[in-house]
Amino acid sequence: MSDINNETANHNQADAGFEILTALERDLGGGMIVRRALPNKQRRRVSAWCFFDHFGPVPIDRTPGQAGMRVGPHPHIGLQTVTWLLAGEVEHKDSLGSHCIIRPGQLNLMTAGRGIVHSEETPVEHTPLLHGLQFWIALPDAERHRDPAFEHHETLPTFTEQGDVFTLVIGNYRDQQSPATVFGDLLGLDLDLAPARERALSLEPQHEHAIMLLQGSASIDGTALDIGKLYFFGTGRDRLLIRSDTQARAFLFGGEPMSEQLILWWNFVARSHEEIETARADWIADRFGSVDNYDGDRLIVPPLTQRLKAS
Ligand code: MN
Repeated sequence: MSDINNETANHNQADAGFEILTALERDLGGGMIVRRALPNKQRRRVSAWCFFDHFGPVPIDRTPGQAGMRVGPHPHIGLQTVTWLLAGEVEHKDSLGSHCIIRPGQLNLMTAGRGIVHSEETPVEHTPLLHGLQFWIALPDAERHRDPAFEHHETLPTFTEQGDVFTLVIGNYRDQQSPATVFGDLLGLDLDLAPARERALSLEPQHEHAIMLLQGSASIDGTALDIGKLYFFGTGRDRLLIRSDTQARAFLFGGEPMSEQLILWWNFVARSHEEIETARADWIADRFGSVDNYDGDRLIVPPLTQRLKAS
């Protein structure tokens, strides 16, 4: 991190009690542009949440470059993927034989553990717009070699309050618990906010949190939120005051700070360079398993050109 970035981060911190991280646009292929908020050069992760893509809203039709999501079979180790949609559908297939279509309000949670392969694509039958989120949660050291698993949750706990609807995607909130299997004290909460209201969300002060606005117009502590930016709050904060101007959607996530050092490389989360080398060789030698009935090629792993260090 350069001194200039440090100054920017400190300036934001002092002004508003939070850090502002700008997502970078990435092309997943086929014109599918995502806003990648984590990892970010200012901050690698929020609790164990180490990767965060926000995609869409994007129209999906037969126009070249608007074919939707089409991510061929690829492996993961050491993490869980959390997929959450605001609009559209994604078809998931994996090397355990799981096959399902996820829709808005449902959760796909895939635990890679020691290794899994999956594909993600817009199904043949689909609605005209795709909008969603994908996160990775780093598995703690004691859990990262476990068997792979896949969960699809059609219903999750919700809280309704004066037109607001909060959906508990991951973890615990107000004495409710998400059915999703996670391996740490984490929170993932979808916020569907009624227009022209202010509400206070209680936060666990031992935890760190971040929020991203996904749709509409809203502000925190008088600061207008921009879509494409992630607002990070460190430990010691017990509530968050959110003002919505319009109907708005946002996602709040966080958990206990993670002290373990990680290496994120390609689709792998590990602790050492050697583990990444082994995972890469295993993918090349086709030792991860395979996804049935994907009409296309599996992803090609890039060359490993430098010695990787955990951080
Ligand atoms: Mn994946």
